[in-house]
Amino acid sequence: MFRQISRGVPSFKNIRQYHLLTEFARPLSYKNSSKSYSNLEAQATHESYLQNKYISVTTYQEPKNKIINQVTKNTPSYFSRVFNKIDEDIIFKTQKNFTNDESNKKVNLGIGIYASADGVLPPLKSRYLPLSGDDTFLMMSEKFVFNEMCIPNMFKFQTCGGTGALSLAEQIIKFNRTQDVTYGIPQPTWPNHMQIFKGKNIFNDIITLDFFLSKYCKDMKPPNVIVIQTSCHNPTGIEYTMQEKTEILNYAEQNNVTIIFDTAYLGLSGDFDNETNFLKMAVKRNIDFFVCLSYSKIADVYGHRTGVLFFRPKKDLNTDYVKANVEQLIRTNISNTPRYGSDIMMEKFLSSEEYMELFKQKIKEMADRINVFRQKFGQDLENNGIPNNIKKGKGMFSLLRLTPEEITFLQEKYHIYLLPNGRINICGITNKNYDYLVESIIKNHREFNNI
Ligand code: PMP
Repeated sequence: MFRQISRGVPSFKNIRQYHLLTEFARPLSYKNSSKSYSNLEAQATHESYLQNKYISVTTYQEPKNKIINQVTKNTPSYFSRVFNKIDEDIIFKTQKNFTNDESNKKVNLGIGIYASADGVLPPLKSRYLPLSGDDTFLMMSEKFVFNEMCIPNMFKFQTCGGTGALSLAEQIIKFNRTQDVTYGIPQPTWPNHMQIFKGKNIFNDIITLDFFLSKYCKDMKPPNVIVIQTSCHNPTGIEYTMQEKTEILNYAEQNNVTIIFDTAYLGLSGDFDNETNFLKMAVKRNIDFFVCLSYSKIADVYGHRTGVLFFRPKKDLNTDYVKANVEQLIRTNISNTPRYGSDIMMEKFLSSEEYMELFKQKIKEMADRINVFRQKFGQDLENNGIPNNIKKGKGMFSLLRLTPEEITFLQEKYHIYLLPNGRINICGITNKNYDYLVESIIKNHREFNNI
């Protein structure tokens, strides 16, 4: 089933240095604070501080005794042979057969839906969707992300938000496998990643992507899967350059590594096409990958749990088997996907190309608002002796380089709340609170550093 792949050598030699991310990770003043860090993100940040990685620029060096055994184009998909022929869910199959029957005499005694003695359904307007979700919503989501519909071998499933997509991907990855799965997740990351991807080995001590990739290549067997945030990295705000995107794809292709593209902030950098280009590049490669799309933030449907899992195995798998197997997972998890969010998405944002363009414009407005505050806030802190990389980041998040003590103090004295690792949501900054926020951070910083 799972084939062990020999170590490959990546082609990245001139990878951009991660001043951005590594500097983000450096606390402004370090005060013996390790014990206060309570989560993995903070721990990784702290470790990188201790190891001085924040200053030392990590450069990939080709290993001396390199083993070149790159996976050829013919390597079987990681997902070959895991999906077996199973029966479709009998209730939904019967329903489908009923719907497709064109007879005007047809009678439906299959699915359990209440109807009156006159055959009238209650006016709830919320019938079950097919197990994989609303087909039109899925097609339009594909168009939204890839600017194409019906990409060959692209499976699509409606999910409960981005988290539902990540969890379903995780289940597909370990589906019918007895071997342990290893995940590579560049750190720091969204903490929920570490709970969702529970492989035997999660490499979680890694702070930068170049360090992450080169470490694997030098010291370790490549993981089965890497989890890459497509854009607007949570929590650092980092955006990968074109070269880095190419390196990530090369690495995955050469080492038969599956990529999970976690796509929760699409367009919030302000450059939608640049972000989706990463995913379109993956389609052209010989890579198994997933795209976990969340509409929560970009369409304000947080509570309606609306997302899509795109699954593109590199080889043509038996379509019916894949669909039936994944649908069975969905059936077990949630029985049937919630539809209110996808109904809203169709009604307001996705039902035509025109709507979709308007949707992208709306996302651009959100991004512009964020970017204006990034520039202003970053500059004002800098002018007051607080170095930061807020201006360079994209999306909602940045890491403020403060110690846990400073963060606690900000909360207790100034009522300013941020995460213990220094993560701030730029959208929490408004015209109204701006001056108070900047003044308080500056005062707090001066008090702590005896300036
Ligand atoms: N991935 C990342 C990186 C996120 O930050 C989030 C949301 N915080 C998600 C996935 C999940 O999004 P959703 O709320 O749609 O489940």
